[in-house]
Amino acid sequence: MRCPKCGHSDSKVTDTRSANGVSSIRRRRVCLGCGHRFFTNETVCEEYPIVIKRNGKEEEFDRDKVKIGLSKAFKKSANIGNKVDEIYARAIGEILSNHPNKICSETIGMIIMGLLKASDPAAYLRFASVYKNFETADDFAFEFRKMSSAKEDE
Ligand SMILES: [Zn+2]
Repeated sequence: MRCPKCGHSDSKVTDTRSANGVSSIRRRRVCLGCGHRFFTNETVCEEYPIVIKRNGKEEEFDRDKVKIGLSKAFKKSANIGNKVDEIYARAIGEILSNHPNKICSETIGMIIMGLLKASDPAAYLRFASVYKNFETADDFAFEFRKMSSAKEDE
């Protein structure tokens, strides 16, 4: 981090505080060249994997798409609370630690469905049907039918 006054490349951190919750911190620095004091704001930047779609095309990881899908799944659930955020955070965690570079869109769906299945079967079924619609993935249709027929058998 270069000194804005003299351009010296070394500075010493004299104070660190969180500025914006946990995602951003503010550092007070002093230039080792001229003694000028300045601040830096540092923000956590997550790097998301490239998503490989069913048709083989690659696209940017879309966090909103994941969250919207989850919100829809929980729409009619009674005690949503912060379930959406919780499942979302766990899904992102799993995606980042197991698939840091590339991930298939189906895999994202499977991860989320796996988490939903354990947490809220009704939301799981809704997610599966929503996902099937915007992904046109036969796997999800199959999974959805499998769950539906399992229910009928009970
Ligand atoms: Zn300086």
